[in-house]
Amino acid sequence: MSVIPQNPDVIVIGAGAAGLSAAKALRAPGVDVLVLEAADHIGGRCVTDTTTFATPFDRGGSWLHSAMINPLARIAEQHGTVLHKTDWDRWTRLHVGGQERSPADSAAYAAYGDGMWDVINERGGRLPEVSILDAMPKGPWRETAACWVPMMVGGDADVASARDSHNYAEAEGDWLVEGGLGAFVARLHDDVPVVLGCAVSEIDRSGAGVRVSTPNGQVQAAQVILTVSTGVLAAQTIQFTPPLPNAKMQAIASLPNGLLNKVGIEFDPGWQGASTGEMADYHPGGEQFCSISFGFYGTPLAVAFTAGRFAAELEQQDPGTATDFCLEALRATFGADSLKNVRRTDETAWHTNPLTFGSYSYAKVGACAARGVLAEPLEEKIYFAGEATMRESYSTVHGAYLSGLRAADAILAARASKGAGRG
Ligand SMILES: Cc1cc2nc3c(=O)[nH]c(=O)nc-3n(C[C@H](O)[C@H](O)[C@H](O)COP(=O)(O)OP(=O)(O)OC[C@H]3O[C@@H](n4cnc5c(N)ncnc54)[C@H](O)[C@@H]3O)c2cc1C
Repeated sequence: MSVIPQNPDVIVIGAGAAGLSAAKALRAPGVDVLVLEAADHIGGRCVTDTTTFATPFDRGGSWLHSAMINPLARIAEQHGTVLHKTDWDRWTRLHVGGQERSPADSAAYAAYGDGMWDVINERGGRLPEVSILDAMPKGPWRETAACWVPMMVGGDADVASARDSHNYAEAEGDWLVEGGLGAFVARLHDDVPVVLGCAVSEIDRSGAGVRVSTPNGQVQAAQVILTVSTGVLAAQTIQFTPPLPNAKMQAIASLPNGLLNKVGIEFDPGWQGASTGEMADYHPGGEQFCSISFGFYGTPLAVAFTAGRFAAELEQQDPGTATDFCLEALRATFGADSLKNVRRTDETAWHTNPLTFGSYSYAKVGACAARGVLAEPLEEKIYFAGEATMRESYSTVHGAYLSGLRAADAILAARASKGAGRG
């Protein structure tokens, strides 16, 4: 069991993108920061698995979304990191209601999918808040396209807020980072010391400063930056003394941690079924849906995605159930021979992961203001960061990264106003 360094100025809870960026920003001017991470690795929901496949596999975040306005994309460019700027919008295969659809249908489906977000975001800009489903335009592909919504926002179309989607800052470009986004974020913060395997069980702000309890003992600091997901906050695995105010609890309940899961599928290099950037959507009916993206980094690694309630249902069954569903999609779309070309598969399980309880947050209908409430510091002692606290970049790695910088800035400002000096 590792010994926790005592008397830090600030404790950061969680070493995902938010915690790492906060710690790095505080360390730069000399603030003594202690980062406590429950898992045995850094990165949280943005972590690259380099052992399962020949190609690095981002188990969580992988794309630098909205690349044109994404600060991590700028940093990657400055570092000369190789970026894959493939357009992931070529639906070459569509299998709906038990039938392989024509190329014309695929094109019509893609066009509906492209246009629908403009309509949702326009409707979301008006009050009262409605669900994404209620904001979706009419059209023959509406039911299948609704299955895409949880892939984007984590929550199903009937429960996720269209206004939250309206608030999101969308820009050109979804880029992949050579070697994996998780590995890139870890490299960027390799100078930040982290105590791994150290789960915080209590945050006590009743006395002077804040006292944090872990299985490795207690530690006290003037401030804490809390970056755990809303899934973890809602599960109340961390006890607060005194309890969190009602407004905070309501905000947490209004921002559930939605679900996106991945099944990595590694093909034999000789398989010619689909090339980099191609996508195949499979919708046998109802909420059953998966979407497969082919050729990550120009290699034979494909990733199949399941999302929302349906993904949670799959995950709660035996391990391998989601993989079976996605392989059935492959068989139905490309024929039984395609399965003979599958070398290896692996699936994620973010919903039941006790350190995340989900993949990324969505706002319930009527509740997108909750992101601001969640972000508010508590008594200049507990500062909240993490993707869910970001109005315009929630659900992303860059949003998490920016939220950590924001919390660090707020603490530096508070310290400066109290004359605490720089370190
Ligand atoms: C499958 C999937 C695909 C995604 N795809 C993309 C994408 O392509 N692009 C994109 O931008 N975003 C994507 N995201 C979202 C992105 O990964 C997250 O928004 C981001 O990584 C969240 O970072 P965070 O620091 O806010 O939280 P986290 O990464 O969850 O960090 C919080 C940390 O707290 C730790 N922790 C939990 N409980 C405790 C405790 N009691 N004590 C101490 N530590 C604790 C956790 O282990 C974790 O490391 C995806 C996410 C998933 C799951």
